[in-house]
Amino acid sequence: MSEVKFISPETLEQAVDAYYKSSKEGKTKILAGGTDLLVQIRSGISQPDTIIDIKNIKELKEISNDNGSYTIGAAVAGAVLDEEEDFGNNWPGVLEALRLIGSEQIQGRASLGGNLCNASPAGDSVPALIASGATVKVHGPEGERNMPIESFHAGPGKTNLKNGEIVVNFQFPKKQKCSGDAYLRMIPRTEMDIAVVGCAVNVTIENDKCVDARVALGAVAPTALLVEDASKALIGSNFEKEAVEKAALACEAACNPIDDKRGTISYRKKVSKVLFKRALEKAIERAKKG
Ligand SMILES: Cc1cc2nc3c(=O)[nH]c(=O)nc-3n(C[C@H](O)[C@H](O)[C@H](O)COP(=O)(O)OP(=O)(O)OC[C@H]3O[C@@H](n4cnc5c(N)ncnc54)[C@H](O)[C@@H]3O)c2cc1C
Repeated sequence: MSEVKFISPETLEQAVDAYYKSSKEGKTKILAGGTDLLVQIRSGISQPDTIIDIKNIKELKEISNDNGSYTIGAAVAGAVLDEEEDFGNNWPGVLEALRLIGSEQIQGRASLGGNLCNASPAGDSVPALIASGATVKVHGPEGERNMPIESFHAGPGKTNLKNGEIVVNFQFPKKQKCSGDAYLRMIPRTEMDIAVVGCAVNVTIENDKCVDARVALGAVAPTALLVEDASKALIGSNFEKEAVEKAALACEAACNPIDDKRGTISYRKKVSKVLFKRALEKAIERAKKG
């Protein structure tokens, strides 16, 4: 392996500038926790000429709460976010997803930004982020822009980031009163595996009626999905059996999975319905607590 140039900028502007320029000369990769990137380099999947470490950039490591709206830096490790009790009270489903990533050691390094940018269809945090309604701020040579999480990915391993763009942070909406989120995944082993199906649900309840719902699925299509038909089936309902069944069927219909040794197409479709119902139950229970 030829020598790799390692840059560790302290400002976002320096990082974007270095990323843009070095990408013109050769292959450049951003390094956050490295739990995906280093494995890919070691196994020869990725062979960057330049690595830009973003962990010294203050903005990317910050966690802030503006009157209930959280902003989480892209390079914040899952274990660090796990210590934010108030964030966990607001978005237990997002933390649930982060706590499933690898092991405690992995979570000490693995960032939300890395999980999103790695663009695995099975990335655990992605359905939970979609269900929460979070958006992502990116910064590049042409300035800043915001994207909903559900339009961030272009396919397996591919994002809609433009040349030189870096993910800066995640912006979570203020949690609605009587709302709750939850994330569940199915894996063939008990831990240290990737999702065969992942499902996140976020519901808001008013006078026993569902007034808002976001349902997201992972690992059942080339990118994580916002299942709008499932949300439509729930909104206005009292979560009666027919509405829940209609939403579950919408989940099944949205699936476009691969068939592999970890799960067949029909298995993944079936599991999407089961996981959806279980995640919904958990989200409702949390929403009822206020
Ligand atoms: C043993 C093991 C178990 C794992 N288990 C799981 C699991 O259960 N579920 C799961 O979802 N994942 C799992 N992973 C994958 C990995 O840990 C996660 O995807 C993690 O969140 C990646 O974050 P990171 O900070 O380490 O990213 P890195 O490895 O640093 O980066 C990942 C990719 O994103 C790019 N990138 C990172 N940050 C930015 C940014 N701010 N802007 C632009 N590009 C960026 C990098 O260039 C790279 O391509 C596992 C990995 C290992 C090694």
